[in-house]
Amino acid sequence: MSNPSVVCHCCSGKTFEDCCEPFLSGTAFPETAEQLMRSRYSAYVTLNVAYILETTAPKFRKYYAAKSILEWASNSTWISLEIVSSEEKRVKFIATYLDDQQQLTRHKEDSRFEKSGGRWYFLDGKTFD
Ligand SMILES: [Zn+2]
Repeated sequence: MSNPSVVCHCCSGKTFEDCCEPFLSGTAFPETAEQLMRSRYSAYVTLNVAYILETTAPKFRKYYAAKSILEWASNSTWISLEIVSSEEKRVKFIATYLDDQQQLTRHKEDSRFEKSGGRWYFLDGKTFD
């Protein structure tokens, strides 16, 4: 299936198989908020909408619709992920992509995560300058 020489979408420098792939396929669960954040970025790149929803905290899931996530993700050309800072429950990152107008966009987000029942979930995020 996946080519072992493919570098992971999340820019970790590891191969996809040794990085986000096990999380996206459900054979392993992220052990840190940063791993979850990286795997969610890879899920946008690979259009794995189910994973985006599953890893969003259940209480916030109602704010997200599979259809709009899929439209946005598939209309974007994902370029890179940069982790600015990583704490236990908080990750600041910059996701760079071309939007549906082919405009280069740097999405800077300070996002919060929580662990519940042994699993990490994305809570919410706000943009920063
Ligand atoms: Zn990865």
